[in-house]
Amino acid sequence: MRATARATRSALSPDLLGLVCAKNGHEHEPVPWRGLCDCGSPLSARYDLARLARTWKRASLARRRGGLWRYREVLPLARRARVADLGEGGTGLRPGRVLGAELGLEQLWIKDESGNPTGSFKARGMAVAVPAAVALGRDKLAVPSAGNAGSALAAYAAALGVPAQVFMPRDTPRAFAVVCRALGARVTLVDGLITDAGRALRERAGEEWTDLSTLREPYRLEGKKTLGYEIAEDLGWKLPDVIVYPTGGGTGLLGMWKAFEEMESLGWIERGHRPRLVCVQTEGCAPIVRAFQSGAESATPWQSASTLASGLRVPSAVADFWILRALRESRGTARAVTERDLLHDTLRLARAEGILACPEGGAALAALRGLVAEGWVRPGETVVLFNTGSGLSYLEALEEALAREAGRS
Ligand SMILES: *Cc1c(COP(=O)(O)O)cnc(C)c1O
Repeated sequence: MRATARATRSALSPDLLGLVCAKNGHEHEPVPWRGLCDCGSPLSARYDLARLARTWKRASLARRRGGLWRYREVLPLARRARVADLGEGGTGLRPGRVLGAELGLEQLWIKDESGNPTGSFKARGMAVAVPAAVALGRDKLAVPSAGNAGSALAAYAAALGVPAQVFMPRDTPRAFAVVCRALGARVTLVDGLITDAGRALRERAGEEWTDLSTLREPYRLEGKKTLGYEIAEDLGWKLPDVIVYPTGGGTGLLGMWKAFEEMESLGWIERGHRPRLVCVQTEGCAPIVRAFQSGAESATPWQSASTLASGLRVPSAVADFWILRALRESRGTARAVTERDLLHDTLRLARAEGILACPEGGAALAALRGLVAEGWVRPGETVVLFNTGSGLSYLEALEEALAREAGRS
């Protein structure tokens, strides 16, 4: 029997009611496997939160071990489904004491995601999407990647014993292709950007390969949303005032926004106290920032995108309209930082807090600096600053940061 024919509803959580189109609200069955709505927009998993509000109390978490699976009631997989726990999630919040003092912030927290498997928060998404795809009989998995999504897919595919294929821009930091291959994935280097890699995947991979591109399937978002649950839990079920997040395809921001909505429905947090979301991009590739500032409802593709923060080199995002909607609903904002500032602040995170940050994390710090200087973030506010991955994967960017530093002195 072909694996796809074995796809079964019982591998998914009974509380997963359907997949809702983020654009037109149409609801789809989760079986068989479905990536996008018929209209080409992303899908969002909907759970029986009314039932869960009665049966699942946040106090029950005290007895569970750390990590992403402690929130399994709001994850799409059935208890009996096979998953691979590689230690994803549970990264905690660190007080940013030195940087807080430097910026004049009394309550600066750093959500450092570099401790995840393969060194980035992408592990959260793949930890859920890979077993969900496999449970639904989609057992050949492919992704276009600016780096971290590829290594995360490779790791979870290896752990579940299914083949993985990664399409990467040729100039992706070198470590990523090496790591993907070491984990057993097939890597195809593509001339151009992640959007070209995505096109190459759809043209060349063939029907039997399931596309796990950012928000072209619904389950990576489910893994990413655990960021929002963790932040709330770690702050004693109060949300911060501001979250500063380096944004490429938007799964992190959207995942957290979804988590806040779910926790309100569960009665775990108070309604009406959501944080202001800050979308951080770089001046070399800032499609969401440009659209936000012009009041547009969707973004136009960025030409000649270029930045060493490769996770932010995303010239167009399928969920652009959804990201913009969340930013506005949250009364948040969107900022682009210069390459010079993001490289400087990558080293600053390392030197001030001992966090070997990725350049995307450096970009977030640089943006926060600007927002504090403008008074958009006030000294008494509680701020969560994201470092999304480890600097170890970005030796080229760190070398460039060091060279620029040496050149200045
Ligand atoms: C993918 C990636 C991002 C962007 O993440 P989205 O949630 O897709 O916006 C930021 N930082 C790093 C290190 C990444 O790998």
